[in-house]
Amino acid sequence: MADPRKTDTIAAVATPPGTGGIGIIRISGPDSLAILHRLFRPYKRREIFDSHKLYYGTVVSSEGHIIDEVLATYMRGPATYTREDVVELHSHGSWLVLQTLLAEILRAGARAADPGEFTKRAFLAGRIDLTQAEAVIDLLQARTTGGLRLAAEQMQGRLAAELEPVQKALARILAVVEVAIDFPDDDVEILDNHQLLESLQTEVLNRLDRLLSFADRGKVMREGVRVVIAGRPNVGKSSLLNALLQQERALVTEVPGTTRDTIEEMISVQGIPLHLVDTAGIHEHGDLVEGLGIERALAALDHADLVLFLVDAKKGFTPSDEELYKRISGRRHIVVLNKKDLVKKNDLEALSGQFPHRRVVTISARTGENITALQDALYTVLTAEFDLRERPSCAPNVRHQAILEKTRTSCLRLARALRNGAPADLVAVEVQDALDIMGDIVGLTTPEDVLDIIFAEFCIGK
Ligand code: GDP
Repeated sequence: MADPRKTDTIAAVATPPGTGGIGIIRISGPDSLAILHRLFRPYKRREIFDSHKLYYGTVVSSEGHIIDEVLATYMRGPATYTREDVVELHSHGSWLVLQTLLAEILRAGARAADPGEFTKRAFLAGRIDLTQAEAVIDLLQARTTGGLRLAAEQMQGRLAAELEPVQKALARILAVVEVAIDFPDDDVEILDNHQLLESLQTEVLNRLDRLLSFADRGKVMREGVRVVIAGRPNVGKSSLLNALLQQERALVTEVPGTTRDTIEEMISVQGIPLHLVDTAGIHEHGDLVEGLGIERALAALDHADLVLFLVDAKKGFTPSDEELYKRISGRRHIVVLNKKDLVKKNDLEALSGQFPHRRVVTISARTGENITALQDALYTVLTAEFDLRERPSCAPNVRHQAILEKTRTSCLRLARALRNGAPADLVAVEVQDALDIMGDIVGLTTPEDVLDIIFAEFCIGK
C-alpha cells in the first residue's frame, strides 16, 4: 500500500458544477501551504497562517490579475479529512471562477485529483476503514432519510463495530488451537472441539447470519421498493401518483433514467423508500387486453415488489378490471378502490366485498381522502414482507455481502474440520483463512485494483 506521506499534492473543485452561492476548492498534500502562499493575498498582510482559521483575501493569477475574492483556510495535518495538510478556498460559486482558480493551483504545482482521491487518502492514512469510505458514497447518493441514517452510521464505523466481536471470537479460537499445536502431547485435553464448535456457532456464524440478513434489508432501505400502480385507463393512476407525491413533496426526487412510457418517482413512506411506477403512460395507445400496451404494463408488473391495483369505484369491478386482476392477484398487492367521493357508502362496501381476504383501501385521489390510510397500509405490508420491523443497524453492500458469505463458507469448513477431529494445524489454517477473508471488508488486505474500483464510484473532489 502506498505510503501517504510520499504522495503528491492534489486539488479539485469540491462543490457541484453549476452556479451556487459559494464554491469550494480543496487542496491536499505536502505542498498545500506553499501553494496557498503563492496564490493567496490576504487582506491583512501576514507571513503565517494559523491552522483551521479562515482568512479573507484575493487569489491572484500568475499574470498578476485578481481572479476572485476568497476565504482561505489552511488545516495542518493530521487533524484533517485526509490526515495531510489541507487548504480550502471558498470563492464565489461560479463554475468559470472555480475552473480558473483550479487552473492556477495546478500551475502552482498541484495535480488534478482523481474521483474519490481525497477519501482514498483518508483510507490509506488509516483515518477511516474501507466500509467508512464506502459509506461516504452511500451518504452522497442517499435519496431517503432511512438510507441517509444507515450511511451516517456506517460512516461512524458501525459495520466494522458489528464485525469486531466476530473477529475477536475467531482470534480466540485461533489462540486455543495454537496452544494445542505448541503442546501436541496434551492435544486431547486442550483442544475441546465441542466448546470451540459452540463458540463458532454462537459468536461467529449466528452473527454472520444476522449481518447477512441486514444486507437484504439494507438494500431495501438504500435502493427502495418498486411499487407499481396498475389499473384500467382513467381509474385514476396518475391522480394517485400525484396525491402520494404531494404528501411527500419535501422528499421527492427525480429519478434519472425515467422512460417515456412509465412515470417513476421516489417517495418515502415512514422512512421506507419507494419507487412509484405509474403504468398510465403504457397502454394509452394500445388496447388493454391485446397489443403492445399490455405487454409493457405486464413487464412493469413483473419487476414490481408490490402492486397497487386501482379500481374506479364508480364504474365497479368491470370485466376488463377482472381480466387485468387475473394477472395481479397472484402477486403481492393492495386493492385500491378510487373515487370514493362519487360513490355511496353501501356501494363501496359491496364492492370491497368482492375482494374477500384481500387488503382493500378506499380512497379519493382527487380529494386526498384516505391517502394516509393507504400509506399506512403500504407501510404495514412492506415492513412485514421485507422484515423491516427491526430496522437494520447497518447495511452491508454487495461487496460486504460477498465477503460475509465467503467468511461464512470458510467457517462452515472450519466447523466440519472441528467435528471430524482434524489435526490442530489444519484447524488453525481454516481459522486463519476465515480471518483473512474477513479482513477484506475493512480493507486490511484489499488489493489495489479493488480499491481503485471502489473509489472510482466517487465524484471528483470527494
Ligand atoms: P389514469 O388514466 O388511470 O391515470 O387516470 P387519471 O388519474 O388520469 O384520472 C382519470 C380521470 O378521473 C381524471 O379526470 C381525474 O380527475 C378523475 N379522478 C381521478 N381520481 C378521482 C377521484 O378520486 N375522484 C373523482 N371524482 N375523480 C377522480
